[in-house]
Amino acid sequence: MESVTAPEPTGAGVRLRPEIASLPPYRQGRPAPADGFKLSSNENPFDPLPSVVEAISASAKYVNRYPDASALPLREALAARFGVSADEVLVGAGSVSLLAQFIAAAAGPGDEVVYSWRSFEAYPGLVSVAGATSVTVPNQPDHRHDLEAMAAAITDRTRVAIVCSPNNPTGTIVTAAEFDAFMAAVPADLLVLLDEAYIEFVRDEPEAAGRAVDGRSLIGRYPNLVVLRTFSKAYGLAGLRVGYAIGPLDILDAARSTAIPLGVTAASTAGALASLEPAAEAELLARVDAITVRRSRLHEALLAQGWPVPVPHGNFVWLPTGAATTEVADRLFEAGLVTRAFPPEGIRISIGEEESGDILLRILGELVPALQEQLPS
Ligand SMILES: *Cc1c(COP(=O)(O)O)cnc(C)c1O
Repeated sequence: MESVTAPEPTGAGVRLRPEIASLPPYRQGRPAPADGFKLSSNENPFDPLPSVVEAISASAKYVNRYPDASALPLREALAARFGVSADEVLVGAGSVSLLAQFIAAAAGPGDEVVYSWRSFEAYPGLVSVAGATSVTVPNQPDHRHDLEAMAAAITDRTRVAIVCSPNNPTGTIVTAAEFDAFMAAVPADLLVLLDEAYIEFVRDEPEAAGRAVDGRSLIGRYPNLVVLRTFSKAYGLAGLRVGYAIGPLDILDAARSTAIPLGVTAASTAGALASLEPAAEAELLARVDAITVRRSRLHEALLAQGWPVPVPHGNFVWLPTGAATTEVADRLFEAGLVTRAFPPEGIRISIGEEESGDILLRILGELVPALQEQLPS
């Protein structure tokens, strides 16, 4: 018998889009070691509610059928609470999917997408996949978006501006006044995406900067604004993949056209709807309260240790470790804490299980004297 030589498994010669081939391949964070804590993905540390698990299980009976991917019952429930029609709500497989849909609907080759940096890690890749170009505007020294500079970065080629509040990974907010001024400064035909993945964690602790923007109060005010929210963080359904957008019908219709068909499953819709049941939601929001209390305690303790941590408004804190970022993240990992390091800027640490906070403070307390010189002020 003749032996057949397997082809070279390199893919050499296949013509890929150069801007895609040069992207760093996405790798999820390291898993937590046994007895360790995963504080790297801003997940909710609480187990899912039994009523939610039950609703998801019940949906399993119908998996031989395609889902109603338009998620009409969920859209209706959300529409009622936001005071809009069901067609002004778009549900997606996580709000990351929705971001991709809106960017693809508005921006292509030669177009620009403006956002602050450092912000959500997914933005650069989504813009590249759409074939568009990222224009990033550095955060201010206090880690907040510089909305004036963002407005100034908008050109004839800009098709989308993304504002993230609270900002991942720095935890800072955009104020309502800053956002209004931004909307007034940008062209009315520019699509603005307000990414509010962490809005439920905002407690408006008194801050010199002013009250945080809340997309809900802006709905219907701007023909070019879309608000994005998710069930992944506050509602603890990261594994289910369900997020939603509220905005003008014409923009949402365009984003419906760029979706991969049937991406929203019956299980995700069922889990999300069960989470909006009054008793379930009250319990989920009480957990969010508990997380914000844990967050404030951790923030106070870190300030007391000497870490220049900005006031956190999401379910995570930002530790500006500068040149020491990798060293600090490695030390935390050795102690069983998986965090998200962005060298040479800082480390994002999710508010997780109560015990994880004690370990965190112990290790960081040991490290801070040696690092005092290196830390950004
Ligand atoms: C987590 C997150 C999202 C949404 O994630 P999904 O799980 O896809 O809904 C969106 N924006 C930011 C800034 C996030 O951190």
